[in-house]
Amino acid sequence: MHPLIMGSLSWIEYQQRLQDEAIVFIPCGALEQHGPHLPLGTDALLSTSVAQSVAEKIDGIVAPTVSYGYKSQPKSGGGQHFPGTTSLDGNSLSQLIRDIVRELARQGGTKIAVVNGHYENQWFLTEGIDLAIRDVGSASTLRVMRLEYWEFLTPDILAKVFLEGFPGFALEHAAVIETSLMAHYHPNLVRLDLIPDVAAAEFPPYDLFPQCSDWVHVSGVLSSAKSASVEKGELMADHIAKGIATALKQEFPSLVSVPDMVLNQKA
Ligand code: ZN
Ligand code: MN
Repeated sequence: MHPLIMGSLSWIEYQQRLQDEAIVFIPCGALEQHGPHLPLGTDALLSTSVAQSVAEKIDGIVAPTVSYGYKSQPKSGGGQHFPGTTSLDGNSLSQLIRDIVRELARQGGTKIAVVNGHYENQWFLTEGIDLAIRDVGSASTLRVMRLEYWEFLTPDILAKVFLEGFPGFALEHAAVIETSLMAHYHPNLVRLDLIPDVAAAEFPPYDLFPQCSDWVHVSGVLSSAKSASVEKGELMADHIAKGIATALKQEFPSLVSVPDMVLNQKA
């Protein structure tokens, strides 16, 4: 039994962890094409792995992953036309997060971290958290941090990973960051030999609906993952986990179980 995983704890163990003011993590992803070299569950797998690695540092609890996400957009995820890309309406995702956050709060959870791994989820997660906060009322001490894990990649780390310049997070779909992190966390799910060698996508400064499938390379990638490596994955994973742990310690200050030594180590 893994003590960090909420679904593996008994209610008695869980209650004790809550009384110890453990942070509860909600990883959020998507079921979405990620080129020929990465699995459909990439966003959910990565948000889960990131949440678990942070939870290990600070004695947190990882709730079951929200494995479906908001609709894939051509300019950030390739679009809805790929087989396997299976998405929620925005309202469904918001209501799902609202229910989960409100339920955790009802049980006495006051510290929640929503770890997002799918670009298109951002505002719908924000909406769900906002509605949950409204539901529990102003007397509650519930506090929620929402984050995209890639935002913890600082310019110095990005410079080490992208020797020829960083193309921006939106074009990083199924590209260097996700492929390297998957090679680090889930090496048996990555096919490095199948990485497409395509030029970075160029998009107009607007969206069109219905979505235009011809805006995106047939492989589904928005820029090439050719320079991905397990070493880059390890570097980024380490930096992200330390960055998130430090932010949580700062924003949830009564967190006593974090040894400063661990957090202050340089990547
Ligand atoms: Zn992704
Ligand atoms: Mn995605």
